[in-house]
Amino acid sequence: MPSPPRPSSCRKLIPRRTQNLSFVLEGIHKVKFEDRPVPQLKDPHDVLINVRYTGICGSDVHYWEHGAIGQFVVKEPMVLGHESAGVISQVGSAVTSLKVGDRVAMEPGIACRRCEPCKSGKYNLCENMAFAATPPYDGTLAKYYVLPEDFCYKLPETLSLEEGALMEPLSVAVHIVRQAQVSPGQSVVVFGAGPVGLLCAAVATAFGASKVIAVDIQQPRLDFAKQYATTSTFLPGKASAQENAERLKKENDLGTGADVAIDASGAEPSVHTGIHVLRNGGTYVQGGMGRSEIQFPIMAACSKELTLKGSFRYGSGDYKLAVGLVSEGRVNVKQLITGTVKFEEAERAFLEVKAGKGIKTLITGINE
Ligand SMILES: [Zn+2]
Ligand SMILES: [Zn+2]
Repeated sequence: MPSPPRPSSCRKLIPRRTQNLSFVLEGIHKVKFEDRPVPQLKDPHDVLINVRYTGICGSDVHYWEHGAIGQFVVKEPMVLGHESAGVISQVGSAVTSLKVGDRVAMEPGIACRRCEPCKSGKYNLCENMAFAATPPYDGTLAKYYVLPEDFCYKLPETLSLEEGALMEPLSVAVHIVRQAQVSPGQSVVVFGAGPVGLLCAAVATAFGASKVIAVDIQQPRLDFAKQYATTSTFLPGKASAQENAERLKKENDLGTGADVAIDASGAEPSVHTGIHVLRNGGTYVQGGMGRSEIQFPIMAACSKELTLKGSFRYGSGDYKLAVGLVSEGRVNVKQLITGTVKFEEAERAFLEVKAGKGIKTLITGINE
């Protein structure tokens, strides 16, 4: 495998005076800074946003490393990034909810509003979704980005723009926990203590879960999870999924099993353990994306009459709830921000995420 270029190698490629400097993926481990035209508002409801902070997540790093995720293949150079917050720079003639200078969290997937899933209220399942940094659509790692006003969420004064960038992964977690229908007093086991898993634990706690158990194969991640938002943690041993599930139940007084299992890891052993750790009639939600096909304990899922659900991105009300949970002090996202790099050093954020350094690295934008 070719070694990734040193981040310093791109710095010299930055043009001096720029209009809309963008961080572009050209191919595997091949990124460049490109000055693109400032995007135009296409609809009277559109707004132009000066992007100020962007978080980097697994999917961005995956495109950078492999040039594709499943059927989404980077064929043309594509701007990366989709976890952003910024300041409104221009508003279209029909915009009523925002004004220039407003600080917003940016929901980066624009649904068509016309297809069957859109009309049924599940716009995250839109057949014609234009999602940032998913080919062929450019992402948010640019000075400017255009969104319809209703995909921007005004940040209350108590929320920083850095926290605003975390509304994207938090909305993913909100959607997962809503899919699981977590209710007060329930026990929830979350597999994977990366940003989304940690946020699922925090949201489950906010929804009233009385036991929230984080599972991960890395002890340092569990140490963080323990003081962040869980009642306990579990490090799986080199045993079968059933054996690990039994030990997890015993250690946490779960009786016949947990009410809810959430996978935020995408790892096959987690899926197995998740199915086995549930009580009869429990709910399992798949949030993590790992290998596209795995072995699956279908008999246990059937005989326990489990409710099995997928979860994809976020839909109606998820961003709004995410902003609400943080502004009410019920979920802390600040604690997850472990580093910030300058826009000019954007690639460093990718190297850090790949190396598993910290929890969430933000890239600062270019102020107007
Ligand atoms: Zn993401
Ligand atoms: Zn649609």
